[in-house]
Formats: sequence, structure tokens, C-alpha cells
Amino acid sequence: MSDKVRPYLYYDTAVSICSTCLRRVDAKIVFEDGAVYMLKDCPRHGHERVLMSDDVDWYRRTREVFLKTPEQPNHFNTPMRWGCPYDCGLCPSHEQHSCLTLIEVTDHCNLSCPICYAGSGPHREGWRPLEQIERMLDLLVRNEREPDVVQISGGEPTLHPEFFAILDAARRRPIRHLMLNTNGIRIAREEGFAEKLAAYQPGFELYLQFDSLEREPLMRLRGADLRSVREQAIAKLDALNLSTTLVVTLQRGVNDGEIGRILEYAAEHRCVRGVTFQPIQQAGRTERFDPATDRLTVSEVRRRILEQFPVFKPADVMPVPCHPDSLAMAYALRMEGGLVPLTGMIDPQVIIDGGRNTIVYEQDGALHQQLFKLLATNHSPESAAQTLKDLLCCLPRVAVPEGFGYDRVFRVIVMQFIDAHSFDLRSIKKCCVHIVHPDAKRIIPFDTYNLFYRDQLETDVLAPIRAGIEAAGEAH
Ligand code: SF4
Ligand code: SF4
Repeated sequence: MSDKVRPYLYYDTAVSICSTCLRRVDAKIVFEDGAVYMLKDCPRHGHERVLMSDDVDWYRRTREVFLKTPEQPNHFNTPMRWGCPYDCGLCPSHEQHSCLTLIEVTDHCNLSCPICYAGSGPHREGWRPLEQIERMLDLLVRNEREPDVVQISGGEPTLHPEFFAILDAARRRPIRHLMLNTNGIRIAREEGFAEKLAAYQPGFELYLQFDSLEREPLMRLRGADLRSVREQAIAKLDALNLSTTLVVTLQRGVNDGEIGRILEYAAEHRCVRGVTFQPIQQAGRTERFDPATDRLTVSEVRRRILEQFPVFKPADVMPVPCHPDSLAMAYALRMEGGLVPLTGMIDPQVIIDGGRNTIVYEQDGALHQQLFKLLATNHSPESAAQTLKDLLCCLPRVAVPEGFGYDRVFRVIVMQFIDAHSFDLRSIKKCCVHIVHPDAKRIIPFDTYNLFYRDQLETDVLAPIRAGIEAAGEAH
């Protein structure tokens, strides 16, 4: 017998794409030195090694424990013809409905962020006409009936000349939670603008770009020192108590040391309902980085949250069952004495089984009830949360809050997008963050949209791949 051995543990096969030609290639998932790597080979472009997670246990838990019955949209819009990921629309092979859907209303922007995945900026003119946006909204309602979370996005959507008519159009539809994705400049600078936005509450929230409290990272990520813009915007939103999620695009060595400080800042401001950390993906005009070593993965961001913000313990930051490869969450309640973490008190199985959409589970009847039982002093003996009663008694600050409402919620989300390096066909089918294509006929996973369907990519990149599949006689 040979004494040669591999330097890793072989875990699984995978289907990925070559990060150069974006054609499907065979891949392996292996464990080495406590981390998870994808190894793949393209016949034309050679070998790739990609860091998938820096925590084998976390990775295995997301794949083996956080298994939830897939929830489907009411309609699929495209047939299966060229195979995943070249059929997006959603096609019937997709495994998760749209938990969060973006509608991009313009490519125009008043910033030119070096990391913009959409390549937006002042140079990009043009607005989607209101009538087209209405058709995009109608498609989403047709697919989802009552879409869970819809983000009006861009470019910078507040620059659209019919911006408030767009919000009105969204409001006329049965959308459960409407969000506005914004860089905050108009909120900070324009008198009365925040007040007009506040009129869309409840069920309306800002998704506010907020990467750093320092000048240098902002210059690096946004090309502008936006500290005073952020300060002015947050002061106005605080005064109005307008629900806001701070969105932090994370880049290794740039702002990943600020996670704890940003969470502390968020906890101090009453308008903030939570923070979403988005490790940078390689798309649009982002700088190139080494995928084998430089990717910030969900497990690493989670560990840094635990290190830098000890309010949360390991059990508090858990995978989101809809798409556990890409999403992690921690929920806390704002109480008089500070934040009280909740997620660690709930049996993960309740969350896996319990919600239609765990990203915003405070809107989910069953889970909300479960949460309420946790907080209630009079929960019944048969309550599933009964075993937690003693635990809660040890936390004197946890009593039933008067008027328990959304403004008590503090939510931390880690949201990682899949790029050409980390692409795993198993995972992409679970993607639950989607975007409505401007043709108002398709709804596309956000990750594949940036790889194949945005702007000219469909004609320049995807069409030759599809032609190759047809020429090989492999199309359905
Ligand atoms: S990513 Fe989803 S929608 Fe796109 S081709 Fe694959 S299964 Fe279909
Ligand atoms: S990332 Fe946002 S703010 Fe920056 S250029 Fe792109 S659309 Fe504008």
C-alpha cells in the first residue's frame, strides 16, 4: 500500500463554474487545516482553490442541520433549458421563493463607489419609467402573492424623478415590508425629505449604507468621506424614529475591525433596527482579490461579531434556514438595561420548522407567537418554550415589554453573496434574495444576476455559453 495521502479530508463533490469562462465545472469540497475549500478544474483555465468557510463545524451545521422544507413561489417564469445557472427566471428547479426582492429603478447615482456591483454613478443616465416599475411590481405580486420584503434599489433610487410615485405604487400592492436602499445623501441634505419618508411607516424601513465610522475606509469603499452625511441622516432618522437597517459592506483589512464599534453605535441609536454585514463579492468594478485567502466568509464575520461585540454568544448567531450557506442572523430585544439576545434562547428546530421567512421573523405569526411565549410571564405549561422559563427568570430585565413592537427589535444579519469563485450549484438553488429583471418577465437570484443577467452580460457572456450547450446537444 502506498503511504501517500491527501492533505485534506474529502467531504463532497460539487458543481461550480470556472471564474474565467463561467462554464460549469466539476468541483470538490474538502476540509483542510480547520477550513473548507472548494477545489475545481476548468479544462481551459486550470485549477482553482477557493476558501468557502474558515470553520468546518459551522459549515457542516449549515448543510446538515439547517435543512428546511423549501418554499416555492406561486409561479415559475422560465423553463429549464440550458441547465442551472443559465435558466434563471425563476425556473422550476429553484428551491426557495423570494424572501427579499430588489427592484432597481435607476442606474444613476450621486456617488461612484469603487465597490459598486451595479457599476452605477453620475455618468449613468436614465430612469426606469414608472409604468415599467409597476409591471415589475406586478410580476413580483403574481409570483409571491404577498411578497415578504421588497427593496426599492438602484443606483440611488431617491434620485428618480418619480421617486415618491414609486413608493406609492409599491404601497398599493400587498407587500408586507417595504425597504428603501439608499446612500442617505438626500435624507441628510434635503429639508423635509426624511419627514416625507416617515409617512410611509409602518411596514417601511430604510436600508442605509453605513460602512465605517472612519474616513479612510469610506474613501476606499465609497470614494468619499461620508461621515457627516451619515451623522446628519441618522440624527434626522432618530428624531423621527424611522426604522433603519445599517448596511455594512465589509472588506478584509479595510473595515472588518470596526464590526463591534458599528454594532455599539447601532445599539445607541433608537431608529436602528439592526445591522446587515455584507462581505464584499467580486462583481462589477470591485478590486480583484485572492479567493483562496482573502474572502471574508460568513463563519469568519460571525466569529468577529462574537469577538468584537460580546453581547452575543455563539448560540445567538445562527444560520438562516432559507439559505444557511449565505445568511446568518442574531436577534436581540432592546430593553432598558441594553440588548437582550433572543436567538440563543430559541430551539433552532423552532426556527427551522417555524417560519415562512426567517429573515424577518418578527412578522411571522407562528414564530412571533413563540417569541411572545418566551417573553410572557404567564406562558402555559404546554408551551414549547416552557423549558426556557427558568432561564428567563435568571434574566431579571426580561419581562413582558409594554407595547412590544418592531422598534424593540435589534437584528444582525450576515449576508454573503455568491460570486464566480464560490459558486456552488447546490447552494445557488437556495438563494432567496432575488431581483426583478427590468424586462418585468423574470425574477432572478441576485447572485446569478450579477454574473449573467445584468446589463449586457446576458448577450456578451451568457449567450455564447448557451450556444455552446446547444451545439453540444445538451440543451433540453
Ligand atoms: S439559479 Fe435557480 S432560477 Fe437560476 S437556473 Fe438555477 S435553479 Fe433555475
Ligand atoms: S454602491 Fe450604491 S451609492 Fe455607491 S455608486 Fe453604487 S448605487 Fe451608488
